[in-house]
Amino acid sequence: MDFRFTPEQEAFRDSVRRFAEKHLAAGALDRAHATDYPWDVSRLMAKQGLLGITVAEADGGQGGALMDAVIAIETVASVCPRSADVVQAGNFGPIRVLAEYGTPRQKERYLERLLAGEGVISVGMTEPEAGSAVTDLTTTATADGDGYRISGSKIFTTHAPYADVILAYVRFGPGVGGIGSVLVDTKSPGVRFGQRSTFMSGEEWAQIYFDDAYVPPEMVVLREGGFKKQIAGFNVERIGNTSRSLALGRYAYERAREWAMQRKQFGRLLCEFQGLQWKFADMKMKLDAGQLLLYRAAANADRGFPSAEETAIAKAYCNQAGFDVANEALQVMGGLGYSQEALVEYCVRRCRGWMIAGGSIEILKNRIAESVFERTFSQRPGG
Ligand SMILES: Cc1cc2nc3c(=O)[nH]c(=O)nc-3n(C[C@H](O)[C@H](O)[C@H](O)COP(=O)(O)OP(=O)(O)OC[C@H]3O[C@@H](n4cnc5c(N)ncnc54)[C@H](O)[C@@H]3O)c2cc1C
Repeated sequence: MDFRFTPEQEAFRDSVRRFAEKHLAAGALDRAHATDYPWDVSRLMAKQGLLGITVAEADGGQGGALMDAVIAIETVASVCPRSADVVQAGNFGPIRVLAEYGTPRQKERYLERLLAGEGVISVGMTEPEAGSAVTDLTTTATADGDGYRISGSKIFTTHAPYADVILAYVRFGPGVGGIGSVLVDTKSPGVRFGQRSTFMSGEEWAQIYFDDAYVPPEMVVLREGGFKKQIAGFNVERIGNTSRSLALGRYAYERAREWAMQRKQFGRLLCEFQGLQWKFADMKMKLDAGQLLLYRAAANADRGFPSAEETAIAKAYCNQAGFDVANEALQVMGGLGYSQEALVEYCVRRCRGWMIAGGSIEILKNRIAESVFERTFSQRPGG
């Protein structure tokens, strides 16, 4: 077993770092407080080959491994936390499901634009009455000629206000087996957005309404029975979310470490107080432990798809660790840490959201417990 990067991985990390320092370091603070999608960063990353890292070369991607995408997202985040969202959208999110399960026609219509950094795709799973219990979703796909009419609504959809297309989880029939997915163009008739709302992180979202929106047959990604495949693809999204949790925790830690080595109180550097040294020791242990869990899940990924169990363990741990570390880093930086002059408070706010998004920590622990006891535990009444 070797815990070091290969020479190729190191070279890739160094090239991403040089790119990030040259193009993303300046403006990192402004970007974190801007609400719009960073399209300039998106186009730059497309040129640099940082979108579609794991997408097959035949489909316009780089044909790399999931680990490469993890290296890219971590390295970008270490320079500009907000820009890591672009790496997420271009590699880990619904784009990966589209690349894996989409038809040549769907890829031609959307993937090219997404990989060029000109567009973004969102995933619409969550509904007002179906959050953690996602299989309770009620958005329906009803046959109409060769195509389908989509009716229902989605909430909390990341990037929805800027997305060209939504990968929407829909119900073709009853039960878990009735769930599949379709691509819905956000400009098509019958698609409407509610009022914009803002998360604690500053990200905007808007409720999406599908009022009998017509989807042609060629825009079905997975028919009924597709839920398992969909979740296999969603585990990739979770790895991106895990990576950003840890990377933003590390970003905040690095800023606090630098601060502790230059800030003096009581005539001594902060790093000379044992009360703060122990905080740093705890932070370091959490970051290193999370790093190993994340790399295990990514390195073991089979054809780019990580195992559900290793992903759940990595995500639950890193979501908590990233938040705890960022929060402690803020504490160490005192009033400066709490101020928007530094990016540390931003890291705390972002990390907080990932404890909920993409499968909350509690839901992931339920999944881990099922692996521990090698049985399922229904969460439903009488289950
Ligand atoms: C920043 C952010 C981005 C998001 N982006 C997207 C997106 O792009 N697309 C999308 O579809 N959705 C998105 N979501 C929605 C997200 O997936 C849901 O918020 C999440 O699944 C939880 O659902 P809920 O908010 O309805 O909470 P609920 O399901 O109502 O849960 C409330 C609380 O109860 C706990 N809980 C629920 N059931 C159990 C149980 N059985 N055992 C133990 N605890 C339980 C939960 O962990 C949570 O703490 C995003 C959310 C956030 C915060």
